[in-house]
Amino acid sequence: MDSTGDVVDGSYCGAMTSLPGLVGSSDTPPAPSLSPSRANDFAQCPLLFRFRVLDRLPEPPSAAAARGTLVHRVLETLFDHPAAERGLSTAVSAVPEAWEHMLERRPELHSLVPTSELDSWFAQAAALLGTYFTLEDPFRLSPSQRELKLEFQLPEGPLLKGVVDRIDVAPNGAVRVVDYKTGKAPRAGYGDSAAFQMRFYAVLLWRTQGTLPSVLQLMYLGDGQVLRNSPTTDDLAATEQRIARTWSAITDAARSGSWRPRRSPLCGWCAHQAHCPEFGGTPPDLDSADVRRATGIAV
Ligand code: SF4
Repeated sequence: MDSTGDVVDGSYCGAMTSLPGLVGSSDTPPAPSLSPSRANDFAQCPLLFRFRVLDRLPEPPSAAAARGTLVHRVLETLFDHPAAERGLSTAVSAVPEAWEHMLERRPELHSLVPTSELDSWFAQAAALLGTYFTLEDPFRLSPSQRELKLEFQLPEGPLLKGVVDRIDVAPNGAVRVVDYKTGKAPRAGYGDSAAFQMRFYAVLLWRTQGTLPSVLQLMYLGDGQVLRNSPTTDDLAATEQRIARTWSAITDAARSGSWRPRRSPLCGWCAHQAHCPEFGGTPPDLDSADVRRATGIAV
């Protein structure tokens, strides 16, 4: 992906059209599924994938993840307002209500931010929103879709699932897939997981709608960088093959029962060190019903 500082792309501004027939499937068959996040988990560490997808071990709430969800919620609802009202003040004033919405759904988040630290918490979200407004002008945008759920049954594989933050469609029909990140852009050579996530979304659009996105755009609100990529059908075919290889490796692990830990600097963010042999822990016994539910493999 190339990096640019200039994000406001006039070809996607002004009057927008809708993407024909773009709807998310709501009928989820009882079949194994795979999202880009979980595929990235397996690539990072097969044992982490097992803990999250098969064992479904609980993880404590993460401040970074909660902050990200909060900002995503505000940016999603920002476009409910008339264009002329989509200013930074509107976004910032929506932060407390968005947080209340999250607390209603996930009461465990109460412990993450004590009442005495709420002002600081909201200020952090406001700073990220301020960066967003330096990158593009929501007055001039009318997204075709927000928080779009997409699913595609990979032949002889899992149900591929993804939620796209935003899709813009230019008057000429060009489609832009936009994803907000509340962290900083990865250093050179460390952006593979985010690039893979975007191409995973592009595969979903391509396979379900026959749409080849013109632009995949990652907006890093932590440092104001934007990464863009224009995929080709060959790129997406290669991504689909990569997904199929990942699934093949997952089902191999399910058959063999070998979910190898892969130690890396990312272990510092792993919530499961207590169960990880790399850190002196012991994984819980694996339930064959969980293996079958998550992978379709009977063991
Ligand atoms: S601590 Fe590291 S090696 Fe162990 S499960 Fe987590 S990511 Fe994998």
